[in-house]
Amino acid sequence: MPICQALQACCGQAAVMEGSTVICTYRDLWDRSKLCALALTELGVKHGDVVATLAWNTTRHMEAWYGIMGLGAVCHTLNPRLSAKDIAWIANHGRDTWIMADATFLPLLEQILPLCPSVRGVILLTDRQHMPRAAPVDRPCLCYEALLDAQVERLAAFQWPELDENTPCGLCYTSGTTGNPKGVMYTHRSNLLHAMITIMPDALALGSSTTMLMVVPQFHANSWGIAFAAPMVGCRLVLPGPHLDGENVYHMIEAHGVTISAGVPTVWANLLAHVERHGLRFSRLKAIVIGGAAAPRSHIAAFEDRGVEVRHMWGMTELSPLGSLGLPKYSQVEGGLSEAELRDLKLAQGRPHAFCDMRIVDDSGRELAHDGTSVGHLQVRGPIVVERYHRQDRPATTGGRWFDTGDVASIDTLGFMRITDRSKDVIKSGGEWISSIALENAALGHPKVQEAAVIGVPHPKWDERPLLVAVPKPGAAPDDALRRDVLAFMASHPDVAKFAVPDDVLFVEAIPYGATGKASLGCQISKVALRAMV
Ligand code: ADP
Repeated sequence: MPICQALQACCGQAAVMEGSTVICTYRDLWDRSKLCALALTELGVKHGDVVATLAWNTTRHMEAWYGIMGLGAVCHTLNPRLSAKDIAWIANHGRDTWIMADATFLPLLEQILPLCPSVRGVILLTDRQHMPRAAPVDRPCLCYEALLDAQVERLAAFQWPELDENTPCGLCYTSGTTGNPKGVMYTHRSNLLHAMITIMPDALALGSSTTMLMVVPQFHANSWGIAFAAPMVGCRLVLPGPHLDGENVYHMIEAHGVTISAGVPTVWANLLAHVERHGLRFSRLKAIVIGGAAAPRSHIAAFEDRGVEVRHMWGMTELSPLGSLGLPKYSQVEGGLSEAELRDLKLAQGRPHAFCDMRIVDDSGRELAHDGTSVGHLQVRGPIVVERYHRQDRPATTGGRWFDTGDVASIDTLGFMRITDRSKDVIKSGGEWISSIALENAALGHPKVQEAAVIGVPHPKWDERPLLVAVPKPGAAPDDALRRDVLAFMASHPDVAKFAVPDDVLFVEAIPYGATGKASLGCQISKVALRAMV
């Protein structure tokens, strides 16, 4: 079943909003996606061609997705937070034909295009009034609204082409841990299966009575599938565009009666800081999803104390991306776990969903027990998991089609998975593994710590010892008193074993983020860059 089916289901029912304005219904989106498909066809885009997008979360960006995918082409989401050089490398590797971009990215396009000779032109996702006067780039630069206007008369007769469900439809690159970025190709089938997971009650629980603020960008692993899942069930969708600061996110939540939102911890840190600073409350918000990085205990407590349920999830671009969901099971809720224990459970990355098989193995590939204490390499498989990276000869999986996630984790008897680290970030001290994630999480509980990252630094006796690198909260002086206070806080923290207490704290102004460019979204700290800094 092609992914456009997801849109058709709720035509006319739900509204899609941008910022504080109601922009369209799904009926509008459905029609405009067809106009987009017609316009692209006229530009020569064919089944199998790759069309890139370089855009924030907006209705035009969503229309472009459905228009591209619906005609049997592949939508390649470029991440504007990457360097021009990296974007160009990715666009060339993806063999992108056109780039559909927000006008704000023109300066970036000017740098990218000379490096991408095979890109035929640019479609600016804007109207005639906002088109640049002078030709900004060395090849055709077309106006999206003008292209759509030109197709209006052909709309009534338009039919989506029949597509095999295994037709590729989406391409997203991930930095991986080494080498060049790797492309993950999604199909109509994998996206629809994944959308069904996303709407499920223990996942994002979307339906016609929910309003979702889609904070997670469309260029991050398909906005975690939300842009497919929300239309499928008529969930009202709020698209924030580029403004993801705490004040703006709070405003959109309140202005549109948002009931659920999904994003990475940094977005929530900014929102919480704004709410705390101004003594605000949430009137309709029922739940937030934290993913992309470990959910800090302090966030879980701060939201749940304000009546907002936290749903902690884990995933990867290679998994479409959801892999595990963090809500407790019936036996845990009804079986006497205390409030405090249930909150502790939320620190776990959760249990795998129906389309994700999960196991842990040791260095030799031997399967380890799901006993909550054995720690090993986390592997997954299933219909939403990558089998081969785009244009690579070798499979991405090992024997039995298991995909090695690069995460190190335990799995308990009830199936709850807990990530302790990325394989490459584990700190090995005196033969013991120290979890940098556990230490970062603990440090974030200190009232004067805004951001925290832990790395191993060489040590003559212990091989490696943990070093805490922290950004103090605004107004907190990064002095020796704070350093000692943070270390004492860590030493007395119940989640921090004695041998794991960092040897020192280094205060910095900013922590570097990874090549996947999650920069201000704070998703993945670049430990490589951090090690080079200290
Ligand atoms: P995404 O863009 O969805 O964050 P990436 O593929 O860029 O996906 O990153 C995936 C990696 O992010 C995972 O392998 C894991 O290391 C980390 N990650 C994602 N979610 C969590 C989580 N809830 N807790 C800890 N780490 C996480």
